[in-house]
Amino acid sequence: MNKFLELKTISLFLFLISIILVFWCSDSTHKSSDAEIPSKPFGIVIHGGAGNMERANYSVEQIAAYKERLNAALTKGYSVLENGGTALDAVEQTIIVLENSPLFNAGKGAVFTNNGLNELDAAIMDGSNLNAGAVAGVTTIKNPIKLARAVMEKSKHVMMIGKGAEIFAAEQNIEIVDPSYFRTEERWKALQKIKMHEQNKDESYLNNNYDYKFGTVGCAALDINGNLAAGTSTGGMTNKKYGRVGDVPIIGAGTYANNNTCALSATGHGEFFIRNVVTHDISALMEYKNLSLKEAANEVVMKKLVQQKGGGGVIGIDKAGNITMPFNTKGMFRGFKTSDGKSVVKIFRD
Ligand code: ASP
Repeated sequence: MNKFLELKTISLFLFLISIILVFWCSDSTHKSSDAEIPSKPFGIVIHGGAGNMERANYSVEQIAAYKERLNAALTKGYSVLENGGTALDAVEQTIIVLENSPLFNAGKGAVFTNNGLNELDAAIMDGSNLNAGAVAGVTTIKNPIKLARAVMEKSKHVMMIGKGAEIFAAEQNIEIVDPSYFRTEERWKALQKIKMHEQNKDESYLNNNYDYKFGTVGCAALDINGNLAAGTSTGGMTNKKYGRVGDVPIIGAGTYANNNTCALSATGHGEFFIRNVVTHDISALMEYKNLSLKEAANEVVMKKLVQQKGGGGVIGIDKAGNITMPFNTKGMFRGFKTSDGKSVVKIFRD
């Protein structure tokens, strides 16, 4: 009888031990599989234009205002990605925040052409299929980046310009505004100042682009599914001649995305960026020469463009989530936020 009790106690004990073991194993399996699944990287990088900006010329309040908008744009795009949204949506949403701010040369706050108009250019590209959409010389579209996306998704074309693009916008129910919506006093004064130097034939002033300040906006993103996208939006350059189109809406010049390499948006003196096919050149260096994103971007922005005195910069993200933001001007409004917890917003070189 005693022996029977002893056996019962032992088997009960063993039963309890096995239950504990089963729980412990299942818990540790769970833990180790958690550690084994690498979280997929995602991230977003933006610019608000490169140019001759120096800390001494900005008040503390101005710096804070720019940083606040850059942070707001980054937060918007990052939240799209964090919730599993596409790189394309993140790029569009981020650029809308910047287009709606009068601080940047895109949408409201765009610079003026020589004949006192605001003519806007924008482009967007989907790195997963190399689809792209662009608009140029539009004067009544509140958010040109939305129209660029509609051109990509709702038409058979890549680029639409001027009045035709605006008719298409109306068909697509894209918000139309009066051209006066884009006007800001600061941009108007900048045009008057350049015109005065033009009248005085002050070539050194004009050639150095002291007051162009650029100010285009752009964004590149990598989503949780490994897709890349890029977009750019601008009013172009102050005092540009009527009908002038810059690099921004030209795919491969100011805007480019390819899932095999990276997504890029440029800002700077557009004519140089067109002639050097800057963003495609960077992607091609990665694709054909196996350069890293940083090496490729530096090669083009800090060597090729510098040799030609083509002022500006690019922002980019590659398929692994690496970020680059080189510029050869004094400053560039820029920032990024990545899924590894890094977040930066900067204006000047330091
Ligand atoms: N790249 C733009 C253009 O030339 C200007 C800028 O980036 O600010 O139109």
